[in-house]
Amino acid sequence: MTLRFTVLGGSAAVPNPGQGCSAYLVRDDTTTVLLDCGPDTLLELRKHVDFRGIDAILISHCHADHILDLVTLRYGLVYGPGGPYPPIPLWLPPGGIAIIDALGQALGSQGEDSADFWRESFELVEYDPSASLDIGSLTVRFAATQHFTECYAMRVSAPGGQSLVYGADTGNIEPLVGFAEGAGLLVAEATADDYGELMPEKRGHITPEDAGAWASRARVERLLITHLWHERDPASVVRRAATRFDGPIDIASVGQTLYV
Ligand SMILES: [Zn+2]
Ligand SMILES: [Zn+2]
Repeated sequence: MTLRFTVLGGSAAVPNPGQGCSAYLVRDDTTTVLLDCGPDTLLELRKHVDFRGIDAILISHCHADHILDLVTLRYGLVYGPGGPYPPIPLWLPPGGIAIIDALGQALGSQGEDSADFWRESFELVEYDPSASLDIGSLTVRFAATQHFTECYAMRVSAPGGQSLVYGADTGNIEPLVGFAEGAGLLVAEATADDYGELMPEKRGHITPEDAGAWASRARVERLLITHLWHERDPASVVRRAATRFDGPIDIASVGQTLYV
């Protein structure tokens, strides 16, 4: 059974031309999971799957560039032709329901029942980062990253033994090296061009060299670099990561599917 990873958006905090922010599809033959749901990614998602058929959505953290298309998806699920559809489990980090609810309260005041803004479209649940989570045939584990808010990397494993790691946003690879050990694919950001004056404990993003070092030290099979500003030169990002990792390196491009 093949594990497939599809990029729906690989931009940093603002969509790049033709590409939204963070959202990725992970699928095997029976299960479809959406990792993050950043702005301007639903349009790409609809090219690959019927959004009504998503088995679960997992959110790494509640920064806007990782959640805003939940709003548009909600309208599709509630008001789309033939709807409303059964709520999709929306797995949020600890504390995430309060954040999502605050957003729903604001938006739901526009002629709807604000208390129920999300409830018809999503089943809101918070994952326990210390436990594994089974979604259909896939198993997900979590590891805390170093970021400006509570954020979790995710390791998705298929029954055949394939696994991939989505690193979300992180400013430090040290706690995550073992977590990615031997994965078939590591999806790592490389949003920081350099660290400037930032002390290590203040960093919320890593550089291309860090992404390469992470891939190398975790002995993954391939590296996909994502969460990049449009202004960054992709060739330069790959060159810099390749100084630390001698396996295959790609830059996330919208619509791209990798097989793990
Ligand atoms: Zn973030
Ligand atoms: Zn981000």
